This record gives sequence, C-alpha cells and structure tokens, in this order.
Amino acid sequence: MTAALRMSSLYAPTLKEDPSEADIASHRVLLRAGMVRKSAAGVYTFLPLGWRSLHKIERIVREEMDAVGSQELLMPVLQPAEIWRESSRWDAYGPELMRLKDRHEREFALGPTHEELITTLVKGELRSYRDLPVSLYQIQVKFRDEVRPRFGLLRGREFIMKDAYSFHATQSSLQRHYDAMSAAYARICERLGLTYREVEADSGQIGGKVTTEFMALAESGEAEIVYCSGCDYAADVEAASTVVPRHPAASKPAPMERVHTPGIRTIAELASFLDIAAHDTVKTMAGLAPEDRIVFFCVPGDRELNPVKADRVVPGVRLLEDEEFGARKLPKGSLGPVGAGDRWNALVVADRSLEAEVSWGVGANEDDYHFVHAMPGRDFNVDGWADLVAAQAGDACPACGADLLGARGIEVSQVFQLGTKYSDSMRAYFMDEDNVEKPFVMGCYGVGISRSLAAVAEQYADDAGCAWPVAVAPLEAAVIPLSAEEQVTSVAELLWNDLAGRAVEVVLDDRDERAGVKFADADLIGWPYQVVVGKRGVAEGVVEIKHRRTGERENVPIADAAERVAALVAEARLSLRPRTPLPASTL
Ligand code: ATP
Ligand code: MG
Repeated sequence: MTAALRMSSLYAPTLKEDPSEADIASHRVLLRAGMVRKSAAGVYTFLPLGWRSLHKIERIVREEMDAVGSQELLMPVLQPAEIWRESSRWDAYGPELMRLKDRHEREFALGPTHEELITTLVKGELRSYRDLPVSLYQIQVKFRDEVRPRFGLLRGREFIMKDAYSFHATQSSLQRHYDAMSAAYARICERLGLTYREVEADSGQIGGKVTTEFMALAESGEAEIVYCSGCDYAADVEAASTVVPRHPAASKPAPMERVHTPGIRTIAELASFLDIAAHDTVKTMAGLAPEDRIVFFCVPGDRELNPVKADRVVPGVRLLEDEEFGARKLPKGSLGPVGAGDRWNALVVADRSLEAEVSWGVGANEDDYHFVHAMPGRDFNVDGWADLVAAQAGDACPACGADLLGARGIEVSQVFQLGTKYSDSMRAYFMDEDNVEKPFVMGCYGVGISRSLAAVAEQYADDAGCAWPVAVAPLEAAVIPLSAEEQVTSVAELLWNDLAGRAVEVVLDDRDERAGVKFADADLIGWPYQVVVGKRGVAEGVVEIKHRRTGERENVPIADAAERVAALVAEARLSLRPRTPLPASTL
C-alpha cells in the first residue's frame, strides 16, 4: 500500500482527552488517534487511518488464505429466512440474529455467519466426489445483536470477519485442510505481531478435538484460559479437562451426623464453622434437564461448576434460576445429595475428584442444617462421576502434569470441524466414488478482522498512544518539520518525496502547529519511524529518526536519512512474510 500523505489534508481528527465511553486501552487509542468513530452501540465508522490498518490485516489474511488454496468470493449480507429455517437456526440463534422484512413481508436475516448461505450455494453445484474438496472464503461485514456490545471493536454488533468454509468427501480430507488452516491462523497471529495462544475450545456435543481458538493474550480479554508451564497445552477454561488436586480424606469413616449450622450460607462460612478446609466441603447445585428432571451437581467446595461440562454429561441441562427453587421446594442454601433421589427423583452427578473423599460435609436439604461424614454409597447414591469443574491456575496439566497458569485472552479467530451438521440438515449431498449419495464433510474458519485490529491495539497501546507494529500501522513513517522556516520545510519536503519514491508509506506533518502538538499526535497515532527536522539539526546537516516502539533516537546526516528509514521499514516488513514454511497445498 503506497502512500504519501500530508497531515494538513488528512482526515484524522485526534482527541486530546480520553473519551469517557472508552474503558480499555485499544478503544481509547483507536478513538483518540482518529481511527474509528462510534455511530451506535457496537457500530463503528472506520476513518481513513483505521481503514488503512484494517486493509493491512485483510491483506495478510488474504495471502494466508490463498496460500492454503482457499478461494475468495463475496456472499450477500441479506439472507432469506428459509435457509435458516432449514438448518433450524432461525429459532435456535435467538435474539442475536438481526431480522427484517421486505416490502412483501418476506423475512430476512442480516448474516451473523454464512454456513446456511454457502451450503445452499454449493449443494446444487458440487455434485461429485471429483468436485471436492473445495475451500471458499470472504471478507465481509457481519451482524450480531450482541447482548452487551462493548470495548469498541472487540465486541461489535456490526463487524468485519473473514469466514471460510470447506467441503470434503472424507473426514481425512477435512482433517488435512483443518490442519493447514490452523497453521495459517497461527501465521496470521504472528504476522500481526500478536502474543497469542492456540487453545483447545469446547466443541459442544460433537466431542473430540475439533475446534481451536486463537487467543490474543490481554488482561481485558473476555475469555479465561489456562496454559501449561511445562508443555504447549493450552485451553479455554470451559473446555480444559481438569485434574483437580485430590485431597485424601482427613478423617476415618464415621457415622453421618446432622449438624445445626444457623445462618450459614456460603462455603467459606461452613468451612470455618465446621473447622475443616473448604475442599472438604461439597457444594451442590441444582440443574434442570429435559423432561423436567432435577439434577444435583456436586463439586468440591472450593471449585466452580463448569456449565459447559455439565451439559456434556447431561445434555440440555441448565442451572435453576433463583426464583425456580421455591416452586420445587428446593432449599437453595442447603442443597445436598442425601435423600435427593427419594425427595425429588433427582439425578446426582459428582465431580470425579470427590471419589477419593471418604466422607463429605454437605447441605442437609433443610435450612440451617448440614450433614458431616456423609458417605457416597452408604448415605446417598451418586448416579455418575464426571469431570465437572472449571479449570484454574495451579491445576495439573492434563497433558504433562506440570502446573497450569491462568491468563485472559481475546478470541481473534477460531477453526472448527463441522462434520455433517449442516449438510445433513440442509440435505447437501454429493455422489461418492461408490455411487452412494453422501453429505459433505464440512469445516468453517473465522478471523475477526476488526477485532484483530483492536487486539493488536490492546497489546501495543502505551501511555502516549499506540506503538503499532509496522505490519498494522496506518503508515510506516512520518516526516515532522518543527518550524515553518523555509530551510526546515524544504528539507522535510525533500525527505518526504524521497521516502515516497522508495515506496515507504509516509506522511508529512505540514500543519501549522507547535512542535509539542506534532510530537504528541505522532506518538498518539503511532507512526513507527518519525523523522524530526529541526532548525538546529538542519544547520548541522542532520535529522533525528525516532523509533516509536523502542523510543530509540538516532541522528543521521540529511543525505542518508531516507535510505536509513527505507532500510528500517524494509527490515520490519520482513515480519510481514510468513515465518513458518507454507504447507504443501491441501486441496
Ligand atoms: P465470541 O465468543 O467472542 O462471541 P464467537 O465464538 O461467537 O465469538 P465466531 O462465531 O467464532 O465468534 O466468529 C469468528 C470470529 O469473529 C471470532 O473469533 C471473533 O474474532 C469475531 N467476532 C465474533 N463476534 C464478534 C463481535 N461481536 N465483534 C467483533 N468480532 C467478533
Ligand atoms: Mg468463536
């Protein structure tokens, strides 16, 4: 992307103050640097500088998609309701799906994703196994009426995504492309300069390792992840299989005892009242499964139930809302497994780590009472043992046993093996080698383009603005004359022209502003290399080159300055190239 721009005519309205609507660094800096503006909650305009950075991200993504043999197309935003009904997602997607009617009262959705549309597209056209595999992608605006649009571009209601879909005759063909896509996604993160982790994510009922999320590490991230201090295992806490430390029973088996525990509601209160460790108490939560079946989930007192895992064990289960306890005569504050089967016909499912426990301290299903020394098998029944708790830092890595560390992340992209989920429901078949009609085996792959811009900003923002990596910076260099004297401006113009001639994206700060204002804006917008032209320097024949990332400054003879900046930019651009070798085409 070549460019030689003048600040005097650039539409980049910078802000001196932090806008009150922005509570995280990326949002602040994108607004303050004049890169984006909000038009409604979760809906943004990309101003020229933001749009330039976004284009750079798109370019990297396109190069990587093309390299793995995916082909670009463009599908419509407007999607007929019928295809969403066919996949059963018109209802299942819920209020996040933006819906509208045309003048003939026909229903449409604004695409939040394109599985339905693309499956409908290809099903009449890819007829034979000989036509497969095919991988297609687009870069386009998406709509999701998020419950809580926030953090600027990170969670928008209108945002830009690259979405790819692949169609295969066999699972092994899908697996090959999925692996190539995963490698491409890792390269995209690297080329954007992101510090990231590739994490195992939850694949719902499908099971198996069929989805991976790419998480840019950031304190402000909405996702919680754990990663291993010893190997490269990393997972979303919702998906991580947990190795909860087992605590051998502190006491020998004893008869179950009913204890009066007046006013005790929390695990901490109970543990201190009974004078035992929190992990020696058992927390019970009530869920409701299909067909109105009550389920009691028991987890160690110091751990949290992971609803995703609960759903894996008892499909369709959800935790009861507070107001639902009364009608079912469930004592919310003192739930426990003893008598649960008899009184509520409840299923009791307990976390595997509790198997080691000889006796439990549990709620007595009666306000202000608990049982101690309750023993599974003797005093109550456990219908199933399962991995139920959310992983947390300090747990053992399920792969190697070393300590897990915790971090927060921004999900910038995700790859997913869909299998035949959509081709089955939408009856998208091809004729296989053996003359049998079969559903396509599908994969889908998404990169949040606008979210990636914010994720980079989040990692590179500092007090002065954003120290963009060259790959994403709106422009690569700036020439900043510090005064309006002819000898200064002429050198600046000369250098600006010279840099443009060397295909460096360069801006000239030709505004009639004080030096302080120019410096502040240069650091705020974050031009990676800033050539400062001052009166004294010009008299001595030198200019100063400031490296925005490191703060390093070097004095360079005027005659060498353009060459030096061009060399720095060329070196930084090398990181635009893939660092890991491209795989042989998988298609
Ligand atoms: P999240 O869990 O954050 O809501 P998701 O898993 O629903 O995201 P996908 O359906 O996997 O999102 O979409 C692919 C990519 O699109 C995500 O990895 C993310 O980068 C981006 N994305 C999703 N929702 C939004 C949004 N509301 N605003 C900006 N980008 C988004
Ligand atoms: Mg996702």
